[in-house]
Amino acid sequence: MGAGVAGLRAAIELAGHGDVLVVTKESLSESNTHYAQGGIAAAMEGDEDIVLHLGDTVAAGDGLVWRPAAQALVSEGPLRVAELIEWGTRFDREGGKPSGQLLRTREAAHSRPRILHANGDATGAEISRSLVAFARTHPRIRFAEWTMVISLVVADGRVVAADLASASPHSGKINPYRVNTRSVLIAAGGAGQVYSDTTNPEVATGDGIALAALAGAQLADMEFYQFHPTAFFFPGAPRFLLSETLRGEGAWLVNDRGQRFMERYHPLLELAPRDVVARAITREGMGEAPGETRPVYLDMRPVKNVDLRRRFPGISAFLAQYGLALDRDLIPIRPAAHYLMGGIKTDLAGRSSLPGLYAAGEAACTGVHGANRLASNSLLEGLVFGTRAAQSMLADALPMGSAATRETFPAPLSATEEAHVESLIARLRKSMWEYAGLLREESTVRLGLASRQACASGLEEIARQGRESRRLAEAQAMSRVADAILASALARTESRGAHFRNDFPQRDDENFQKHSIFSGDGKVAFEKW
Ligand SMILES: Cc1cc2nc3c(=O)[nH]c(=O)nc-3n(C[C@H](O)[C@H](O)[C@H](O)COP(=O)(O)OP(=O)(O)OC[C@H]3O[C@@H](n4cnc5c(N)ncnc54)[C@H](O)[C@@H]3O)c2cc1C
Repeated sequence: MGAGVAGLRAAIELAGHGDVLVVTKESLSESNTHYAQGGIAAAMEGDEDIVLHLGDTVAAGDGLVWRPAAQALVSEGPLRVAELIEWGTRFDREGGKPSGQLLRTREAAHSRPRILHANGDATGAEISRSLVAFARTHPRIRFAEWTMVISLVVADGRVVAADLASASPHSGKINPYRVNTRSVLIAAGGAGQVYSDTTNPEVATGDGIALAALAGAQLADMEFYQFHPTAFFFPGAPRFLLSETLRGEGAWLVNDRGQRFMERYHPLLELAPRDVVARAITREGMGEAPGETRPVYLDMRPVKNVDLRRRFPGISAFLAQYGLALDRDLIPIRPAAHYLMGGIKTDLAGRSSLPGLYAAGEAACTGVHGANRLASNSLLEGLVFGTRAAQSMLADALPMGSAATRETFPAPLSATEEAHVESLIARLRKSMWEYAGLLREESTVRLGLASRQACASGLEEIARQGRESRRLAEAQAMSRVADAILASALARTESRGAHFRNDFPQRDDENFQKHSIFSGDGKVAFEKW
């Protein structure tokens, strides 16, 4: 399930051993992977670099990185990246020549420049392009585009089949059908759409995480949502990501008085960990009255020795649409929901707590990011753990499921019902931003839970009448994911990494140096890994 970096890498690993069906909700290029800009972190300089990369990953995770997972990430990463290059990924090189040295940049909280990039600021699109092209050379991989997984079928304690449906925007009917499986890999990405302000594309509605929870799999660390500090903030414009590599190249952050403010928040200034920078921008952007905001800007003008249009062609072209240029203007920014550190709890080999169900990439939680992801570690995570999950699917060699064919054939929603679903989604997203965003406290999270409950009841009422549609399925997924985020945020009465509680502003290792486990019944437990 999913054709981002994790799903495609897994499919390639599996293809030598049997038939693989890659299901993706829109076209093969519509994924978070496709939009990744800055790059992929890889310690290509040998053992010392691997040790440093491990140290940076553990430090960013604020006491909660599961070391064996991080060790696997940094030590297997270089091999997985070398494979990518062999399969046709063209990273940027010195002099623009194929024989030139790989160019590396630095991002926040990395102790050395180790971020490889492609086409300047379009790394994800290049990785996605090359993986799709390579996967297409395997005759046993089939692609089902504009198709969505809408449920997992569990029998005798394991996943035996998945229900698929049309996700085409052109047909109201979703025409569900059942596919028997040996095993299902959820590589369906994150859930940024749960928040009204997000850098994620519209497909990122957390479907995989919600389906896994509904089928009985455990989720972990769902309170840890990373908010990217610098999303474009301009009336009528999307929350386009302004990559961290801009700050890596020397950009400043300034408030509406023209002051560079990060020195008041962290010694690493603009390259402090993401959560610190995001909260600093939020605080600098608060006005006098409650709810009032003041502009905050990214300032690239002090950077003199870089050809900005060449180094950041995608970002420059995007900004030009709004009459802005990196070398001339202050660029208005604000944080936006970006990356889910939590997800479907897996072991080191991608196995979820439910037999027959595996997870990798942003949908999974291996503990590799702890409470805060180190920049550019997620594309790498997709490669490393996509491969590992595929290898365990092969090793487990489960027999083919034999579920009965689907017997319910839902009716489409009326136009009024679809409009009602849209309004429920909009309310949910807004309340998640307001009540479970960068700064949380018990009272706001409880308001969020009440608002999410109202949304869930509205959706249930429509579903009870035997109706199904793509947006209804996505709304149900977002509602379930929101429930897990809110319940986990309420239970963690401390501040750590991306989770900040105004009412518990300190880190509390004695009680909470543990991972939260959400089991689908609204209850949250904490366990040490
Ligand atoms: C703007 C932006 C910039 C980023 N920049 C970087 C960066 O520079 N470096 C970095 O390391 N990370 C970056 N990230 C994060 C990184 O891109 C993602 O974490 C990573 O690509 C996730 O890969 P994935 O394979 O897990 O999921 P995705 O790439 O999100 O793929 C998910 C797939 O699942 C499919 N899907 C979803 N629901 C269903 C369903 N119901 N049925 C069937 N298919 C479904 C989608 O269609 C898609 O194909 C960025 C993210 C964004 C949004």
